[in-house]
Amino acid sequence: MREPEDAAARRALAPVICYPNETLPEPPLALYRAARTGARKVAEAVAPPREACTFEVPAGHFFRITSVDGPQVGDLNLWNAKDLGERFYSGKTRALHGTHLTTAERMWSGFPYLRPMATIVEDTLGWYGIDSYGGSVHDVIGTRCDPYTGNLLSGVDYHHCCHSNLTRALADHLGVSLREAEGHVHDVLNVFMCTGFTRETGQYFMKASPVRPGDYLEFFAEIDLIGALSACPGGDCSAEHTSDAAACYPLLVEVFEPARGALEGWEPPARNGYDGTHGR
Ligand SMILES: [Zn+2]
Repeated sequence: MREPEDAAARRALAPVICYPNETLPEPPLALYRAARTGARKVAEAVAPPREACTFEVPAGHFFRITSVDGPQVGDLNLWNAKDLGERFYSGKTRALHGTHLTTAERMWSGFPYLRPMATIVEDTLGWYGIDSYGGSVHDVIGTRCDPYTGNLLSGVDYHHCCHSNLTRALADHLGVSLREAEGHVHDVLNVFMCTGFTRETGQYFMKASPVRPGDYLEFFAEIDLIGALSACPGGDCSAEHTSDAAACYPLLVEVFEPARGALEGWEPPARNGYDGTHGR
């Protein structure tokens, strides 16, 4: 195909940020950290290798996801515990914060809510930054490994993809059918996963996660949450997923309750302020 004569000039135009985020409300990290200092552990759950676990986190509590035993990637879903219709929206979170999340960034819910569900308060992989391939950790660009894409690409039915693990775990948590639970499972935060897009073809890539046992990602729950975390069958995602080939390890989830009064003056964020009339 012939290029227009001004192709180079058109390509040379500088990009502009789609959603400048300087006007986003700043999370009160100092308040959160002070509250965390006196918090006590009140619950824990373990996602076994190639399985998922669920957990509940009341608003104003913290939850921490830790790598134990070996390098392992996790796929995280979040719902409003009182209204499963409000759930994590990875696409808008990506638009607001970029392709990968770290400390002080937030997991946002979908429309018409569009408010912070959880805020990252600590990330022991924050040092990684963006590597020479354009890779970074904790992405909101992937979806979740699933048996449908595996069937499409290689004709196999594999039952321990993150999508299926999350579906089974949520069905058990809610006491509903797999079919009902599956409709609530959504695109994830890829905890500890190291990913990016290739410069040449724009394809989604993964590489061995830099996570090591003891590394963790910790969140402050902005609203009452149900969480589900799958220990991805890809393990550290250095080679493949959607199979039993990779070495897989568990992931630990711990919930912490701040001391009474530690969050004095803090309130869960309100639903988005748009009036919902859509011009009518
Ligand atoms: Zn997975």
